[in-house]
Amino acid sequence: MKNTYFTPGPAELYPTLAHHLQTAMDEQIGSISHRSQKFRDIYKHTDEQLRALMNIPASHGIFFTGSASEVWERLLLNCVEHESFHLVNGSFSRKFFDYAQSLHKYAHIQEKPFGEGFDAAEIEVPEYAELVCMTHNETSAGVQMRPVEMHKLKRKYSKKLFCVDMVSSAPHPDLDFGLIDSAFFSVQKAFGMPAGLGVWIANEACLDKAERLRKYDSMTIGAHHNLPTLWKNYQTFETPATPNVLFIYLLGKIAEDLNQIGIDTVRRQTEDKARLLYKFIEGDERYAPFVKEERHRSPTVVVANTKAPAKDVMAKAKEAGLIVGSGYGKQKDSQIRIANFPATSMEQIEGLIRVLKG
Ligand SMILES: *Cc1c(COP(=O)(O)O)cnc(C)c1O
Repeated sequence: MKNTYFTPGPAELYPTLAHHLQTAMDEQIGSISHRSQKFRDIYKHTDEQLRALMNIPASHGIFFTGSASEVWERLLLNCVEHESFHLVNGSFSRKFFDYAQSLHKYAHIQEKPFGEGFDAAEIEVPEYAELVCMTHNETSAGVQMRPVEMHKLKRKYSKKLFCVDMVSSAPHPDLDFGLIDSAFFSVQKAFGMPAGLGVWIANEACLDKAERLRKYDSMTIGAHHNLPTLWKNYQTFETPATPNVLFIYLLGKIAEDLNQIGIDTVRRQTEDKARLLYKFIEGDERYAPFVKEERHRSPTVVVANTKAPAKDVMAKAKEAGLIVGSGYGKQKDSQIRIANFPATSMEQIEGLIRVLKG
């Protein structure tokens, strides 16, 4: 029997992935040159589909990296001379902050306890912070920061660069790229692909900053995948290094499939499934939502406290071929995490609920 993966990355593969993979094999995508017109057409197609899906304007380029965490480093090297600012409320947002310290940036932090989220009104961005680093979906805790709050904050600090880690939620958050300078994700979460590709969206303000920093004798913006080099290659839909051509192709195909459904429908389906999951864990005395504030509850990663040892709950689901994620770190014994990505249907979520109820 095949399992269904409700794990928050790697996750259940998108239903059409196998078909696209077969087409890619038939077309020998794995052997084509990344300096060929065929590759440029693939990059262009993926670019167009992502732009349509996520409403990305011409002011922003779309670049490919090895992973999303690589983009943490790229952003810090290319967009921060001295100071960054980080909203931290879990493991992934903390790692972004840790990267800044490792790169000897002066990293400011505003922190919330695990399970709590941020609203714009309570955030004080330090005067000299150049880059504001936000995590739309803190995957470890199942906490979201709503796009309206991110937009509100940027309006208040309009001179600073704003970036959004949307790794475990893209394409769900409706970001206004007129306000958000940069965002990034990797494909093994809500796009339903195997891991191995990061996507970095960045605008001309980020490019300007990187070019200014590059002129300073004492600064490095990095040799690998720096923004000016990515941007220059992007002008002809090429990449500085040999990229993951197969995955760029697959991402374009899956984005196209999601565009066929329509982003409004994709988002509504995610919200409908999330509502059902939260209603279930609120209503069943053996479970409880970990995130207390409804507005901070993630639609794409639902974290539930379990009365029984979490490993027993996971084992029971596994017997039925349903793989749910474990709680993060210290929460391993008392929490489960359920990914609610477009790859799983309403029927599959209903099936999971039946088993967790049983
Ligand atoms: C998974 C995840 C990452 C890291 O992505 P990689 O592809 O493993 O580099 C970063 N941020 C968040 C919020 C994540 O969920």
